[in-house]
Amino acid sequence: MKAAVITKDHKIEVKDTKLRPLKYGEALLEMEYCGVCHTDLHVKNGDFGDETGRITGHEGIGIVKEIGEGVTSLKVGDRASVAWFFKGCGHCEYCVSGNETLCRNVENAGYTVDGAMAEQCIVVADYSVKVPDGLDPAIASSITCAGVTTYKAVKVSKIEPGQWLAIYGLGGLGNLALQYAKNVFNAKVIAIDVNDEQLAFAKELGADLIINPKNEDAAKVIQEKVGGAHATVVTAVAKSAFNSAVEAVRAGGRVVAVGLPPENMDLSIPRLVLDGIEVLGSLVGTREDLKESFQFAAEGKVKPKVTKRKVEEINEIFDEMEHGKFTGRMVVDFTHH
Ligand SMILES: [Zn+2]
Ligand SMILES: [Zn+2]
Repeated sequence: MKAAVITKDHKIEVKDTKLRPLKYGEALLEMEYCGVCHTDLHVKNGDFGDETGRITGHEGIGIVKEIGEGVTSLKVGDRASVAWFFKGCGHCEYCVSGNETLCRNVENAGYTVDGAMAEQCIVVADYSVKVPDGLDPAIASSITCAGVTTYKAVKVSKIEPGQWLAIYGLGGLGNLALQYAKNVFNAKVIAIDVNDEQLAFAKELGADLIINPKNEDAAKVIQEKVGGAHATVVTAVAKSAFNSAVEAVRAGGRVVAVGLPPENMDLSIPRLVLDGIEVLGSLVGTREDLKESFQFAAEGKVKPKVTKRKVEEINEIFDEMEHGKFTGRMVVDFTHH
C-alpha cells in the first residue's frame, strides 16, 4: 500500500509499504481522508526528534476492513478515526479520571506510531472513535484534530449561554472555536485577529463583536463594551494575545490557552489573586470529546473548510503551510486508490 513516509532530509516520500499483521485489539482501516496539521509539519521537520521512516498523519478517517482478535468496539464496515491521541495506557490516574490526553505513556499517530497518511492504517480499536452516519468523511477528518481541540477548549472555558467568550486568533482553529461557541454553547462571541479578512469571515459566522488589535486595544474595548469577557480561548500563536486575554476577562474569568508560542506570558499575581481569574491549558480532546464534536458536526452546527488534495502533493502542501499560503484545512484524498 501507498504511504507518506518521513525521510532523513525532512521531506515526505510517498512509497509502497507493507503493514505488519494485526495484534490483539487492533483493527485495520482502509483510509478515506487524512488532513494535514501544523503538528505534522513539526514532526516532519524533526522538531520533536528524528522520526525518519515514520508514516505521517493524525487526522485520518477510514473504513474498518479487518478486525483483530478481541475487538468488540468496531466491526468491519464501520467508519472510524485516527487521532493525535492514538492511545493511552488505560490505567494511570489520568486515563481513569477523564483526562486521558494527559497520560504520561500516550501514543501519538504519525509521531510515536505510524499514522494515517496512507492507504491503510492500523489502530487500537478501543481508541478509534466511530464517525456518526451523515457526517462527510472529509469534514470528519478536520474534526478529528482542529474540531475536537477547539470544542474541548470552549468546554474547558465553562462558558454558559448568553455569556461573552473572547476568541483570540480566527484562523483554522479559531473559526471552529467560534462555531462551537455560537452554535453549540450559545455564547456571545468576540473575535480578535490582526487579519481583517479573518475578522470578516468571523462576522459571517456570527461573531457579535470583532476587534483588530492593530487598530485598538482589544482588552480595553472588551472591558468598556461588555464589562470584560466571562472567558477567553486563545488560539493565536503570539505572546501578546495571551497577555491581552488576561486583561480582557472580568473577575472570576477563565483564560484557556490552545495556541503554542514558545515563550512565557506575563501574568500579574495581584490580577490572578485579587480578581480570581484562572489560566488553563487545553490539549486536543478525549475520545468522548471527539465523539461529541463529531455529533455536532453531523448535525451541521460546525462546518470546517476543507480542500481535497492528492497524496503526491504532500511536500507542496507542507511548503504552502510553512508560508501561510492557504486558509482552512488541506485534506489528502485516498478514496480514488
Ligand atoms: Zn492536528
Ligand atoms: Zn495513562
